[in-house]
Amino acid sequence: MKFKKIISVFVLLLVVIACSTNPFTGKQTMALVPNSQLFPTAFQQYNQVLSESKVVTGTAQSEMIKRVGQRISVAAERWLNANGYQGYLKDYKWEYNLIDDKTVNAWCMPGGKIVFYTGILPIAQSETGVAAIMGHEVAHALANHGQQRMSADYIQQGVALAGNIAIQNDNDRAAFNQYYGIGSQVGVMLPFSRSHEAEADKIGLILMALAGYNPSEAAELWKRMEANSGGNAPPEILSTHPSNASRIQNIQSLVPMAVSEAKKFGVTSFKPITKF
Ligand SMILES: [Zn+2]
Repeated sequence: MKFKKIISVFVLLLVVIACSTNPFTGKQTMALVPNSQLFPTAFQQYNQVLSESKVVTGTAQSEMIKRVGQRISVAAERWLNANGYQGYLKDYKWEYNLIDDKTVNAWCMPGGKIVFYTGILPIAQSETGVAAIMGHEVAHALANHGQQRMSADYIQQGVALAGNIAIQNDNDRAAFNQYYGIGSQVGVMLPFSRSHEAEADKIGLILMALAGYNPSEAAELWKRMEANSGGNAPPEILSTHPSNASRIQNIQSLVPMAVSEAKKFGVTSFKPITKF
């Protein structure tokens, strides 16, 4: 009995200590695992995915993914620095890869490790569409949404997790992928909650606008994604990013905010939207 009490106090303490502020929303968020311990696991997992996949290199498309990724990460850095969060990205090691796979998906692992599948490019339609997806995925990673899912789950299970999430076997890998919404062949993905989706949409719009891409394209992109959900192979990305009419309306209503945010950083015009 006494032991149980000590454990629950310990868990509570850990939660209090592990709360940090989300720079984009000002809200307190849970992070049971510090970035310094989470990121090496993510990097190892990312390399594993790459080693098991057909990574596209040296093509116009793979170069475009890298270009958009760089512009989005520079935008994130500028925005964070201007808002008093210097050093927030210090443990990030950005990487942007295109994988030859018909799966309609893209994701960003903790620490800025990004994958696009070639299957999502026809729905992205243009570099601006890619930027909308990139901004949204990077936003999930910056706001640590995957980690919050994991933290909430562990607390529910009463597991006092002392920062160790080393991946030792396939089960651990599958669990990690579930929390972070990664991969295409590891079973059921956990959907992001509506509030996490709304946060990622808002942050994503700011990032793409700051990077010089027209944020109004984001709503069009998610409409195309929805339109593709009827067939035999609904976009994988919708299983982790549930979308609906009110979400798309919300994105549309936030476009003027993103445009004026970009203006503060001297961005007054956007790259023309040209289909591939
Ligand atoms: Zn999302």
